[in-house]
Amino acid sequence: MTIPIADNLLRVRHRIAAAAIKAGRDPGEISLVAVSKTHPWDFVVAALAAGQLDFGENRPEEAYAKFIEQGGAASPRPRLHLIGPIQSRKATIALTCRPVLIHSIDRPKIARKLNGLAVAAGVTLDVLFEVNVSGEVSKFGFDPDRLTAALPELLALPALRSHGLMTIPPFDADPEAARPVFRVLRQLRDQLQQAWPQADWSQLSMGMSHDFEVAVSEGATIVRVGSAIFGPRTYPT
Ligand SMILES: *Cc1c(COP(=O)(O)O)cnc(C)c1O
Repeated sequence: MTIPIADNLLRVRHRIAAAAIKAGRDPGEISLVAVSKTHPWDFVVAALAAGQLDFGENRPEEAYAKFIEQGGAASPRPRLHLIGPIQSRKATIALTCRPVLIHSIDRPKIARKLNGLAVAAGVTLDVLFEVNVSGEVSKFGFDPDRLTAALPELLALPALRSHGLMTIPPFDADPEAARPVFRVLRQLRDQLQQAWPQADWSQLSMGMSHDFEVAVSEGATIVRVGSAIFGPRTYPT
C-alpha cells in the first residue's frame, strides 16, 4: 500500500488551521512535528518534498540511523525532535542526533546527564519538560509538584534551555477525554511562567493524530502527528 503522504500532510495542516481559527488563534503559532518513528527514511524524504521540515522520533538510535546516517546530507535539512523517553545510556546518541528540541525531559537524572554531555561538547540543548498530568502510572513525565520542586536545579543547568512543557494524555478513543489534561498542562505552564519569568515557557507540545484539534483549541503550540500523516505503524513502539 502506498501512503499518500503529501495529501495527508495537506489535510492535517488544514485541520490544524481550521481548529486554530475556530479557537480564535493564529494558525501560524502552531507547528506540526511529523512523527516518523518506525517508518523508513523514504517516508521522511516524501514529507520533505511536500514541505514538511520538522520530524519526531522517539528512539535515539533510530533517529541517528535515519537523520544522521541516511539523511545527513538531505536538502532541505530536516529538523529532528526527540519525543520519547531517553535512557541514560542513550544520552550520548541522543546528543549526536543533533535534535532541535527534546520534548521529553521526564526526570532530573536525564536532565543532569544531557547537561553534562552538552557542556563537554560545547553545545546547548533546547528542551521541554514532560509532565504526567493524569498521574497514570504507566506514563513517563514529572508529577507537577515534583517538577515545581526540581525547577530551581533544572533551570540552572547551563547547557539546557527550557522552552515549555509536553504531555501525553492517557489513551481514550474519545479525543474530548484529553481536553482536561491539555487544559491542566496550559494552566501549569501559566503558573510556571509567573514563578520563573526568566525562563521561556512559550511552547506547549500536546496533541497527536486522534486529538490534535482538541489540543490546538486548548493552546498547543506544537502538535506531534504520526499515523494521520504516515499511516498505521506495523509494529509496536
Ligand atoms: C508516536 C508518538 C506520537 C504520534 O502518535 P500518532 O498517534 O501516530 O499521531 C506523538 N507523540 C509521541 C510522544 C509519540 O511517541
